[in-house]
Amino acid sequence: MMYDIIIIGAGPAGMTAAIYARRAQKSVLVLEAQSYGGQIINTPEIENYPAAANISGFDFASNVYNQAKALGAEFKFENVLELRDTGASKEAVTKRGEYSARAVIIATGSANRKLGLEGEDRLTGRGISYCAACDGAFYRKKTVAVVGGGNTALEDALYLADVAEKVYLIHRRDSFRGDEATVERLKSRENVELVLNSRVTALNADKRLQSVEVKANDGSVRELKVDGLFAAVGRVPENQSFSNLIELDGAGYADSDESCRTKTAGVFVAGDNRRKEVRQLVTATADGAVAATAAIRYLNEG
Ligand code: NAP
Repeated sequence: MMYDIIIIGAGPAGMTAAIYARRAQKSVLVLEAQSYGGQIINTPEIENYPAAANISGFDFASNVYNQAKALGAEFKFENVLELRDTGASKEAVTKRGEYSARAVIIATGSANRKLGLEGEDRLTGRGISYCAACDGAFYRKKTVAVVGGGNTALEDALYLADVAEKVYLIHRRDSFRGDEATVERLKSRENVELVLNSRVTALNADKRLQSVEVKANDGSVRELKVDGLFAAVGRVPENQSFSNLIELDGAGYADSDESCRTKTAGVFVAGDNRRKEVRQLVTATADGAVAATAAIRYLNEG
């Protein structure tokens, strides 16, 4: 079957694109490597999406998924390994098969950036985590560290301060990239210790993480005994599988115009994997609407 539009990625951007495309009567297949929802499902409470304050990220994602399904979008949970362009049609290749469409919207978002430390992969799930909302409850009354200085690290540290006995927040500079208001809330918490101008340089473990080695910019080294380490050092865009059809900038983000068009006719991008200034839920859903509208126009103009 030839779909009108294949959407790669069932995060807020991809699922919003599906809603817009279905409302324009286009046939839609959404291909998603994991579960629907993307990054937002890890947010305990959304506070900055207009008219949807105090909803969990999971409930928000489920609402969008159900809305897209009810409108007739088809979902398959398969990882797209390759995208081919034959001009009139695009072929998305997964382990299970090949799917064709006249247009494609790539809304693959981004993945957690790793710290790049020896043993990090082996210890993931054994003391190392990239999601405080998912794994924080395992560290009740324990000692944890968070690495990073953006809003994710600040919010993770605040969240963990409610659960854990002690929270170290380790950041490589002396000022934070995240919001000042959150920094102030953190500073008022007695069980939070800021470890600034410092980087984690080694993980010490047997079966699980036992401690981390932290090196300050002045060269001094200390060992922090921790049960858990939460890495919140940003994200990397998931575009590599599509670099044959879309232009990527130095950081791997997809170049596109105001209408989310890429250098390949009929291939559009939407969401956090796209080069832009603001990556928020509201800009992801906006991208989904814009990319779908451009794709619909592309299809209607033949
Ligand atoms: P981010 O803003 O890119 O921050 C990443 C942090 O990790 C930076 O402080 C960076 O340090 C540090 N870092 C990067 N690589 C590192 C490494 N190898 N070792 C040690 N530290 C490293 O990422 P984010 O916090 O995930 O946020 C992403 C976007 O989502 C941002 O725009 C953020 O505002 C937004 N966000 C918003 C909310 C909200 O509105 N409530 C919540 C979460 C996230 P430097 O500062 O030194 O570069």
